[in-house]
Amino acid sequence: MHCPFCGIPDTRVIDSRLSAEGDKVRRRRECLHCNSRFTTYEIAELLMPPVVKRDDRREPFLEEKLRTGLLRALEKRPVSAERIEGILRHIKNRIRASGERELSSQRIGEWVMEELRNLDPVGYVRFASVYRSFQDVNAFREEIERLQTPSGKTDSD
Ligand SMILES: [Zn+2]
Repeated sequence: MHCPFCGIPDTRVIDSRLSAEGDKVRRRRECLHCNSRFTTYEIAELLMPPVVKRDDRREPFLEEKLRTGLLRALEKRPVSAERIEGILRHIKNRIRASGERELSSQRIGEWVMEELRNLDPVGYVRFASVYRSFQDVNAFREEIERLQTPSGKTDSD
């Protein structure tokens, strides 16, 4: 690690500690030349595959965007911020575990709906109506009916 002040390549680690969450290592370093001290962080690089949108455009997976969508769907619903973070964690795990090089936004949306269906029916319908942008009233009604059937299945399934 080069010294950010004088640029020489010889710096030494004088302290090294794990963050409270255990997800990063913080190191204090000292330059052997100018004696400046600085901090570096080491974190795991977890690459997320790009998301393919309906119109075939690719965009990076944006956690914040998904969080905003969830918060909007669950506005004023009895669902804690913790549960919402839990959903986000599940979705990110599923994306990574898929091993895919890219994922459709539709598939990710389906995963979110699976989570919401069990958690909060109102949030589920809200999310689904935005995500699927129901073509007509019938599609929306079918979705509601599907939800009201205890098994989550309709006769046509
Ligand atoms: Zn230096």
